[in-house]
Amino acid sequence: MTEELLLELKDIHVSYGSIAAIKGICLEVYRGEVVTLLGANGAGKTTTMRTISRLLKAKSGSILFKGSDITNVPAHKIVAMGISHSPEGRRVFGTLTVKENLALGSYTRKQIDPQRLAWVYELFPRLQERSRQLAGTMSGGEQQMLAIGRALMSKPELLLLDEPSLGIAPILVKEIFRQIRQIADSGVTVLIVEQNARAALKLADRGYVLEVGKIVFSGTSGELLGSAKIQEAYLGKK
Ligand code: ATP
Repeated sequence: MTEELLLELKDIHVSYGSIAAIKGICLEVYRGEVVTLLGANGAGKTTTMRTISRLLKAKSGSILFKGSDITNVPAHKIVAMGISHSPEGRRVFGTLTVKENLALGSYTRKQIDPQRLAWVYELFPRLQERSRQLAGTMSGGEQQMLAIGRALMSKPELLLLDEPSLGIAPILVKEIFRQIRQIADSGVTVLIVEQNARAALKLADRGYVLEVGKIVFSGTSGELLGSAKIQEAYLGKK
């Protein structure tokens, strides 16, 4: 791991109307890391991810990417800058084929890069097998692979993964976590939100714990896995 600070959130506040969802978050992600954001339902994880990819506007605070202030950069430019978001709930285009979905992921690069496509197919062989299948007819796990593959098509330096294991059969969850490891090993920095805290911490280098819009705990994955408080609140029984 290098010591280059890739992403920095400084005292970010986000509200939905009068409801404050994020109340002053500070967070750092270094290049090459896998960092996980843990927390109960409604803690603000998705809101944080959407704020980073600029789908939501921060009320105050700043976001820096590679040292540049991106707090007011529009979402479409964020992708071109090197941040890609695989959203919660997958959101693939059901009436388009797998390959067409992947092509949409590369829209910032004008046309599909055959090398990149080959890499995504190597990571997710099932997408290659099903390249002509309509995305809407794929299983939940396959659609998740497609959402991640699509996010990779724009060659991100930072990949935001929101709940990649949600609603997926356990056997595919293992496969997807293996694939995320491979993505990270290829040099892509990953920020991942996961309900499955234990699996996320096994994958990640570090983690942050959110409670009602605030970070209440942060540390290395080992520290978080070893903490009695975290075990009780988020890890349950082995
Ligand atoms: P989950 O794991 O359930 O997705 P989360 O940690 O991702 O939870 P968020 O979806 O970020 O949580 O929600 C944070 C808070 O903001 C919650 O109280 C939620 O009810 C609220 N919230 C989220 N989206 C909206 C919205 N569109 N309008 C109003 N409030 C919202």
